[in-house]
Amino acid sequence: MEAKRIQGSHYARSLIEASLDPLFTINPDGKITDINNASISITEVTRENLIGTNFFDYFTEPDKAREIYKQVFAEGFVADFPLTIRDGKLTDVLFNGSVYKDEHGKVIGVVVVARDITDHKRIETELMKAKEHAERATKIAEVAKIKAEKATHIAERATQIAENAVISKQQFLSNMSHEIRTPMNSIIGFTKVMLKTPLTAKQKEYLTAIKMSGEVLTVLVNDILDLAKVDAGKMIFEQKPFKMDASISAMIHLFEPKIQEKNLQLIKNYDPDIPKVLVGDPVRLHQILINLVSNAVKFTNQGKITVGVRLLNSHEDKVFLEFTVIDTGIGIAEDKIEFIFQNFQQATSNTSRLYGGTGLGLAIAKQLAEQQGGTISVKSKIDKGTTFSVVLPFKKTRGNVESVTESKEPDIKLKGLTVLVVEDIALNQLLMKTLLDDFGFECELAGNGKIAIEKLKSKPFDIVLMDLQMPEMNGFDASRYIRENIDSQIPIIALTADVTTADLKKCKAVGMNDYISKPIDENLLYSKIIDLLKKPGLINDDDLPVVSAKCTDLTYLINRTKSNPQLMMDMIALYLEQTLPLIGSMKQSLRDKDWDSLYAAVHKIIPSFHIMGIHKDYEDIAKKVQEYASKKQHPDELQQWVLQLENVCSRACKELEEAYNLIKKQTDGRKENITFSC
Ligand code: ADP
Repeated sequence: MEAKRIQGSHYARSLIEASLDPLFTINPDGKITDINNASISITEVTRENLIGTNFFDYFTEPDKAREIYKQVFAEGFVADFPLTIRDGKLTDVLFNGSVYKDEHGKVIGVVVVARDITDHKRIETELMKAKEHAERATKIAEVAKIKAEKATHIAERATQIAENAVISKQQFLSNMSHEIRTPMNSIIGFTKVMLKTPLTAKQKEYLTAIKMSGEVLTVLVNDILDLAKVDAGKMIFEQKPFKMDASISAMIHLFEPKIQEKNLQLIKNYDPDIPKVLVGDPVRLHQILINLVSNAVKFTNQGKITVGVRLLNSHEDKVFLEFTVIDTGIGIAEDKIEFIFQNFQQATSNTSRLYGGTGLGLAIAKQLAEQQGGTISVKSKIDKGTTFSVVLPFKKTRGNVESVTESKEPDIKLKGLTVLVVEDIALNQLLMKTLLDDFGFECELAGNGKIAIEKLKSKPFDIVLMDLQMPEMNGFDASRYIRENIDSQIPIIALTADVTTADLKKCKAVGMNDYISKPIDENLLYSKIIDLLKKPGLINDDDLPVVSAKCTDLTYLINRTKSNPQLMMDMIALYLEQTLPLIGSMKQSLRDKDWDSLYAAVHKIIPSFHIMGIHKDYEDIAKKVQEYASKKQHPDELQQWVLQLENVCSRACKELEEAYNLIKKQTDGRKENITFSC
């Protein structure tokens, strides 16, 4: 029994000692009756000194400890009550107590387990701190984000302001240039017209001076506008095939009078390895080279100017050409050379006084070269001369030389073309009329888009020259109406006082075919008209149908009917009755790619060409369409051919309707047989 008791007490002891948490037994008076080793190490008081002492004295808040102790007696237990043991280092514990009783059920004391929660607390504190840090960091991040957002907003606003400033600047320059160029257009144009009239030598001299000053002013306005455009990245570079050699020769040709006047020599060195036709922007190339050559001429008083073009390197689809302009002129000082490509920079302060100019030419040339993927550079020695070098890429093309069109002098074959000029400013109207009269074209004027549409509906024209800004209906709306509502493909050339990218895109979007900027260059206008009228059939000069004021000729009909007016009227009525639906059917079947009905429609139209005296070329075009339709082939040109047939048949219908009415009027009036002449 005793052994059992001892064994039991050993067991209880080992259980007590197994606990890493301090364990106390306390009697009802609050005196410590037993402890484990963990209690000794936490309190750092020996067993002997602990036993019998007041349990509550080991806590930082003894009263609170006593309260809890009482609670244990009252309730039988207490769980996880936080207290702090007052030892060397103040240990946080969770107080867990429960009463223990003797064999009669009488409470004889309390067992207390005080769980050391120092680590727990530390981790909790660290977590709290970490949380605080995190919260603070989040706050800082939020503030930083707000600041960044503000900065972005400010940057965006600044960019917006800068962009608006550029747009306003461009808009201002564009408006100004428009305002200046419109009257300049008239001044130069009418001076040119007057120069063609009989004049005294003095008058001629004065008018030439006016013309020259006007041209200088126009160049300056154009330069400023160009600069604004290249600055804003809005310069348009065309990609069209042209003959490089001829283009350079034409450019050099411009300087011959000046070269002779200054008794200089002008030499052209052209590399024969350069492909004949290249694709690029010949106008911008001229702009660069004209600037360099005119500077060379301007700054050279004796010696020679050499314009060289050489093939720098050739790739599969493009070539790089080097253009050099070498002069034996005054040269540029070494310390000035880096500035001459900047806006409004001249090498010396008296350059403008001695030689004229504004210092814009090279800045534009540099931008033009660089925006096409090229470079421009200069070498110079005072009193020895200057060499400018421009390297530019050009695309290769398989197109042959013959397909490249060039501007020509007015061609007798095209006399009688009918041109509808849509322009609201009376002076410009008159100017266009004089120009077109000179070409031998017939010109009709419309003051706005609305009038133009009415005119187009009432009679046929070959081409429309359309101003953009007009009252009532502007050029864009009118062109859109012509394409969409009248369903006409008549060529339209926009007349623009200022060419902005946006305007050009708009011109294209509404279906205009080309544009020409004012002041109108007569040769350019002429070649653009010819180009457009040639394009539809993709036929070369010799194939170009002779366009007369009328496309029909009633000789055959008169002979055939022996001048019988009734018979003539019947035949014309028959033609009108069948042709209009046939035109519709031709267009529809092309749209539907219904080759059989295209064939049938064209087949029915063909005989009428001969009867109504429509030029043989159109019969040939119709036969080509018929041939391809029968083979169910549709080459690229098919659409253009059908368009040509549509145009000529529509014109023929209008003309024949007029003829019909005339015959009817005359027969009604005289009620007798009349002899008709064509
Ligand atoms: P501009 O000729 O209208 O003054 P440019 O931009 O074309 O303006 O030229 C800027 C300046 O560079 C000229 O004013 C001149 O001082 C110098 N310069 C240009 N080309 C030559 C040249 N071939 N010889 C000597 N100086 C030149």
